[in-house]
Amino acid sequence: SAKQNIKSSIQFYSTDLKDDALKRMDLESALREAIEKEQFELYLQPILDLASGRIVQAEVLLRWDRPGVGMVSPAEFIPVAEQTGLIVTIGKWVIKEAISLLMDLHRQHKYIKLSVNLSPAQVSDNGLLNFIKKSIVSSEIDASYLELELTEGVLVNDFDRISEFLVELRALGITIAIDDFGTGYSSLSYLQKLPIDFLKIDQSFIFELIGNDSNQAIVQAIIGMAKSLKLKVIAEGVETEAQRDLLKEYCCQFVQGYLFSKPLEYKAFCALLNT
Ligand code: C2E
Ligand code: MG
Ligand code: MG
Ligand code: MG
Repeated sequence: SAKQNIKSSIQFYSTDLKDDALKRMDLESALREAIEKEQFELYLQPILDLASGRIVQAEVLLRWDRPGVGMVSPAEFIPVAEQTGLIVTIGKWVIKEAISLLMDLHRQHKYIKLSVNLSPAQVSDNGLLNFIKKSIVSSEIDASYLELELTEGVLVNDFDRISEFLVELRALGITIAIDDFGTGYSSLSYLQKLPIDFLKIDQSFIFELIGNDSNQAIVQAIIGMAKSLKLKVIAEGVETEAQRDLLKEYCCQFVQGYLFSKPLEYKAFCALLNT
């Protein structure tokens, strides 16, 4: 009967919820251990200047080598780290480690810029700005080699506070990129009000660029708007030559994606720079 169906679907649903909660708790304690035992590693994905084909920058992407499980994707653990606040500690480790990679690159005379992702809970943490300042100053790295990636979602909450945060970062010389651009719901007026340097066109527009008129219109519009506002543009998720060629036709300046390289371990990234 209908009543029975409802009852069994409720039971099914609550079992699912319980599984989810258990999974989350398991992940949370494993993440705490991962911080203590330093099981995280930074991978680097090249960003190329499309016209010259040269690697000019790299995005820092966190990896967790979970004992007995293997590499866990950040898409799986970042949301839990966000919900539990663990992202604040993890994020500081990422920044410190990224700065030490920058120091190492510079020792090899490889003047590559690194961009680090920041999620909303990290930006809400009042200690973050000072932490970044101190880390930069003690490393003696030129801050213009560090870029921070924020999604539009970060900008909707407490605009004044975010604005102050970004202005201070810019004063240090750090550049700011808007990640997954085109998928947020915020008004575009922030692009003039905030010190933003880069727009990263969301992968979803690139994955379905070929043969999709509306995605082509959106990508061209973003590139055109960025040019008028003197912002730089990176297309993310470029996987095919056809996508690359079309982006070249649109005069997109920078590209990132599996066509050029997957995210690499630091050693492999350095080897690629030397080829
Ligand atoms: P994101 O910042 O938008 O990073 C791009 C994601 O797309 C990365 O996934 C990258 O490996 C993947 N990708 C790059 N090129 C291609 C391509 O051509 N095709 C496809 N299918 N995928 C491509 P990843 O490394 O799994 O990271 C997922 C998300 O996790 C990131 O999205 C970012 O939001 C978050 N994340 C990663 N590292 C960190 C971190 O250190 N801190 C914070 N707060 N978030 C991070
Ligand atoms: Mg990113
Ligand atoms: Mg992105
Ligand atoms: Mg993303």
